Amino acid sequence: METYDAVVIGGGPAGMTAALYLLRAGVKTAMVEKLSPGGQVLMTSEIENYPGFPKGLQGWELADKFANHLEDYDLHRINDEVRSIKVGAPWHTITVGDQEIGGKAVVLATGSRYRKLGVPGEDRLIGRGVSYCALCDGNFFRGRNVAVIGGGNSALEEALYLSRLVNKVYLIHRREDFRGQVCYQDKCFTNQKIEVIRKTVVDEILGESDVEALALRNVESGEQSRLELDGVFIFIGFEPIIDFVPEDIRTERNGVITDVEMRTNVPGIFAAGDIRAKMCRQVASAVGDGATAATAAFSYLEQLD
Ligand SMILES: Cc1cc2nc3c(=O)[nH]c(=O)nc-3n(C[C@H](O)[C@H](O)[C@H](O)COP(=O)(O)OP(=O)(O)OC[C@H]3O[C@@H](n4cnc5c(N)ncnc54)[C@H](O)[C@@H]3O)c2cc1C
Repeated sequence: METYDAVVIGGGPAGMTAALYLLRAGVKTAMVEKLSPGGQVLMTSEIENYPGFPKGLQGWELADKFANHLEDYDLHRINDEVRSIKVGAPWHTITVGDQEIGGKAVVLATGSRYRKLGVPGEDRLIGRGVSYCALCDGNFFRGRNVAVIGGGNSALEEALYLSRLVNKVYLIHRREDFRGQVCYQDKCFTNQKIEVIRKTVVDEILGESDVEALALRNVESGEQSRLELDGVFIFIGFEPIIDFVPEDIRTERNGVITDVEMRTNVPGIFAAGDIRAKMCRQVASAVGDGATAATAAFSYLEQLD
């Protein structure tokens, strides 16, 4: 079994920052990423709130900058999926694809994935008008009518992005007030192409082979309606990716539980970024978590030695 002082699982902002800090501390480090480094940043059209870039930048540009920063270091990159972790000493054993590797310290940084609406028609019409990524699929809807479901930052940002491509965006939210930042709300509410529909939920996504309409219901009056359109983009939040996390590590619905140093309840295992049970899921906080987790992991390794 190949062994490392530290293994970082996930190559998003949290994982790449943790790897950078560990490498700069001289720790033999592997980073396991099942796709391309960048994480959710690669699904983001424009990032306007990452400090140092007052004019904003494209998600892929920021992902590239993070990845390039690691180029000069001796990072062992493993491009595969972590399936499980067995807690142990001195090494925790990580199953990656069909091989096992050992890490004295492990940083969990697998982020989060979109949450589904859970209504009839959703699964059947994924890729046929149902999407969770405006950047990936928005282009297919040029000049057409779409809905964005949700009331947080992601929904507002993606509605704005889609408004540049499509004919019309219906922004549908189950509440009166939106949770997203006021600056995004202002931009959406003054955008001629965006029509806001409040206090309304989607009961069903309708269509034979492609999305044709939404069955809507006003949550106050109970009034039902049908909205004809070509696509629906769902942004109702994210759930942490913790399927591979062993029972030994304490989790809650919202993610892995850590202390302020990103330590889990299992010695030598740390968590950083969106995988953590926390309120703020942003690039800036993921980067901060990654730096903190790496610092705590370094201190743990020093104590072991
Ligand atoms: C549409 C959208 C818009 C956003 N806009 C903004 C914004 O404007 N500003 C902002 O600050 N934040 C924004 N965010 C949130 C931000 O992107 C996340 O908070 C941040 O990327 C979290 O970083 P992370 O490293 O914790 O996780 P992620 O970015 O999710 O990275 C986790 C990585 O782990 C990998 N992985 C998962 N499971 C495994 C496994 N089992 N084995 C190996 N690898 C695995 C994934 O492939 C992924 O690359 C947005 C997110 C989305 C989806």
